[in-house]
Amino acid sequence: MKKALFPIILILLSSMAPPAFASEITVRLSGGLEKIESFKVNEVTYCSLSELVELLGERISWDVVGFSAEFESEGHRILFFINSPYINIDDTVKNLTYPVKFRDGALFLPAVTFIPMFDLTRPEQISWDEDGKTVRINSEWYNITDMSLLAKANGLLIEIFVTQPKDYEIYVTEGNWLNITIPGGIIDARRIQSRRNSKYLRDMNAYQFEASAQVSLRLRQPIETYTHRFQPNPGRIQVSLRDTSAAPIAQNGIDKVGPDDRIDKIIIDAGHGGNDYGAVGLKKTQEKKIVLDIAKRLAKLIRKEKIFQAVMTRDKDKYVSLEERAKIANSNNGDIYVSIHANASLKRAARGFQVFFLAPARNDAARAAAQLENAPFLSEMGSFSSGEGDDLSLILSDMIQTEFQEESAELASMVDKEFRKKLSKNPRARGIDQAGFIVLNEVYMPSILVEAAFLTNKNDEGLLRSKKYRQKVADAIYAGLKRFKAKYERK
Ligand SMILES: [Zn+2]
Repeated sequence: MKKALFPIILILLSSMAPPAFASEITVRLSGGLEKIESFKVNEVTYCSLSELVELLGERISWDVVGFSAEFESEGHRILFFINSPYINIDDTVKNLTYPVKFRDGALFLPAVTFIPMFDLTRPEQISWDEDGKTVRINSEWYNITDMSLLAKANGLLIEIFVTQPKDYEIYVTEGNWLNITIPGGIIDARRIQSRRNSKYLRDMNAYQFEASAQVSLRLRQPIETYTHRFQPNPGRIQVSLRDTSAAPIAQNGIDKVGPDDRIDKIIIDAGHGGNDYGAVGLKKTQEKKIVLDIAKRLAKLIRKEKIFQAVMTRDKDKYVSLEERAKIANSNNGDIYVSIHANASLKRAARGFQVFFLAPARNDAARAAAQLENAPFLSEMGSFSSGEGDDLSLILSDMIQTEFQEESAELASMVDKEFRKKLSKNPRARGIDQAGFIVLNEVYMPSILVEAAFLTNKNDEGLLRSKKYRQKVADAIYAGLKRFKAKYERK
């Protein structure tokens, strides 16, 4: 590798060469466009590595004499020698074909050959567009890359792999959930979900929020004492859970219907409220008002017979955030969650009563219903993207918790049956279906979402405006809840 340790003469020759054409090239970052210095030598575009790494929040360090420079980050080390086409990446020699240049105190690299090598060392996706003379940096690239669960003699070791030292926060929530939140995290949710292991976990979720990411693990083993730390090489957050019980955790599914064996607490969720009107009918009927009335009727039925207790996420006209709704449900140890809504469609002919449970949508109508009901929460999260190709519902469909899917589907079917009994044909019962409703994904209990009828259908809007119909919807839900209790409650 003699060329890597090039003679000093070469530097002298290079510094005497006529100045090459100086200009700028574009760096396209997810946040916008930046310009960095560039020049061409024999049709080869050089870009300022010094400026490029600055955009990535990094620095190059020079050796004392200034003949070589080193760039170290993300566990990789790249060594450059001025005027040599050879560089060292992690002690492996690579040939750039064109020599590294030094101008005005900055290091310049031939973009066409260097950027693809650089890409392999970075968590971002970095590419060079020769025609557009543009470096593209996709910083949406994952920095939370993997997870592992390892049984140890005295407990469980959880490792979350991250590509750079990250701050994190760990907290435990109701239902034996261990949550690890990573500010600035961009999570490979697919990969992490693939590490789901039912031996240790009852359920898990990987969430991408706007400014953070979160891994939530519902553990089989009770969370009593745990310790955590950041470990480098490779970077990972380690959480050790001490197993204080000698006996292995039973896996008999007792916990399926709540923290105890009784099904007694019903969380009634009236959709929308406050500035969020929900769907608005042809006669300007507001969904938020209709659903609150149905919710109150259901609560009244429950409180009268005292078979269940009722907890409402709202009992007046106010907006309740996704987080609050989930908190009310989970911290009250709800056994069943019923979200009440009225549907809307661009197709005026669409009509009927329908019950949904949480699972990936299988048809356009179900997806449309979920999009409609998710919209206020998406705008809450600041990521509402007018429906078209919304990433969030795609992500959601990957992360849908499946723990209560079977019970939820059964409950939906029971409510549907009761509705058919009570309201034979007007409106038509559309049956049960599944879709990715965010609010249902946040509650840890069997849950359904009822679309009482379509506000955008003339006949249905008339029904929704009548007390009699609203009472029948409440009656049907209530009867469905009793059927569910009779079947699932352990005597
Ligand atoms: Zn709604």
